[in-house]
Amino acid sequence: MKTLFIKKSFLVAVAAVIALGICLGICAGFAVKEASAINPNMPTVVIDAGHGGIDNGVQGVNSKTDEADINLAIARFLKGNFTAAGFNCVMTRTNEAGLYGDTSKGFKMRDMKKRKEVIENSNADMVISVHQNSCSLPSKRGSIVFFEKSSEVSGELAANIQSELNALPQCVKPSGAMYGDYYMLKCTQSPSVIVECGFLTNPEEDKLLNDETYQRAVAYAIFKGAVSYFANK
Ligand SMILES: [Zn+2]
Repeated sequence: MKTLFIKKSFLVAVAAVIALGICLGICAGFAVKEASAINPNMPTVVIDAGHGGIDNGVQGVNSKTDEADINLAIARFLKGNFTAAGFNCVMTRTNEAGLYGDTSKGFKMRDMKKRKEVIENSNADMVISVHQNSCSLPSKRGSIVFFEKSSEVSGELAANIQSELNALPQCVKPSGAMYGDYYMLKCTQSPSVIVECGFLTNPEEDKLLNDETYQRAVAYAIFKGAVSYFANK
């Protein structure tokens, strides 16, 4: 993990971005600006859109939309937010394809290892994996942020993001951040979380998560939680 010296001007700039987002009703604020050169004074955030390729993840109960596609849509909006605020931003995948190479046996582990490689090569200061949840109980809904139990910094980040997600007007059942024993949470010592944005097995959340306005709102909530984390360091 790099040692960060976050200047006051950075926090002012980020605060301005957040204020702008609020003024514009969250949705209309951010044109995606492609990252150019790495700014060594700014944190590097790796955004990991879960699944991809032949690994579709779960499927919307009514929409039949693949989780992989919703993950990518939210990840792209998230990247737009971070990039507009001046962060260095790296995506593990930028399109529908998986990262496993060929589809022979062991593709899932190859895919995960490739994601870890991206995280290591980018010297990530933060990792945010985007996923959608599922449950045999259709009534189950809500966002849940997972973190590795042994990582204090990940716990802090998870709590910040969870708090912003719970504050969304569409949140009917606030949750606490939870421990999770997942490969993606162990790729770096930097704070890492898996954000399960909602349950695609719940009809209401399936509908919401297919809506671009809601996808942008979820991305913006994750972004705000991440910025709060950095601001408190
Ligand atoms: Zn998933």
